[in-house]
Amino acid sequence: MAHIDFHVVLDVLQAHHDGCPLCRFLGTAEGQYYQSLLYSWVGTEGFQDRFLAANGFCRTHARRLGECGDGVAVSMLYAPLLVHRRRWLSLRGRRNLFRRRRSPADQGRHAGTDACLLCKQRRQWEESFLGNLVRHGSVQTPEGQALQQAYTAGWGLCFPHYRQLRSAHPTVPHWLQQFQDTRMDDIAGEVESYLAALQEGRRVESGAPWKELLRFMEGTDQG
Ligand SMILES: [Zn+2]
Ligand SMILES: [Zn+2]
Repeated sequence: MAHIDFHVVLDVLQAHHDGCPLCRFLGTAEGQYYQSLLYSWVGTEGFQDRFLAANGFCRTHARRLGECGDGVAVSMLYAPLLVHRRRWLSLRGRRNLFRRRRSPADQGRHAGTDACLLCKQRRQWEESFLGNLVRHGSVQTPEGQALQQAYTAGWGLCFPHYRQLRSAHPTVPHWLQQFQDTRMDDIAGEVESYLAALQEGRRVESGAPWKELLRFMEGTDQG
């Protein structure tokens, strides 16, 4: 999957003004992930082993795989997994923590809910995107200024991605923090006016602020 650098982040910021740029990036990158999966990875032993070791995709990513409509690919991944899951049902006992290299099936049997390969990939994309944003957005170079300009002309990060940025980076660019603060003030103000208008029986403008509130709170990734 493509390496995320300054240019990727800048392109995404410039291309998306109607939603969280990182959510939009993830949507596109996930689409490409499924394309690669269906056209090349699915038949390889390496991917099948990793898929088995993760005990398949999480529910969301399994559903999205299903939406791609590729019956052969789904069968190739999930039919062997069914065999293993049935076998795991009848196994008893604790995992052998001392065995140095566990087989993919053994790993899959004990895989946690966070083992999904695509969820892991998403976390890497998020860390890399946000890291680039902070690193390049913190310096007064032409690149840094271009990033700031593109960011502040856009929608800003959704709340979950902004929270992730704040928890991963103790210092974020001042302009970015200011932009996000203003965004939150504006969204809260618009919802307040909307509720006041409803209460007073005034006609409410279209463009429902509550929809924007929900998109901001939960992200603008579709599906
Ligand atoms: Zn987002
Ligand atoms: Zn997942």
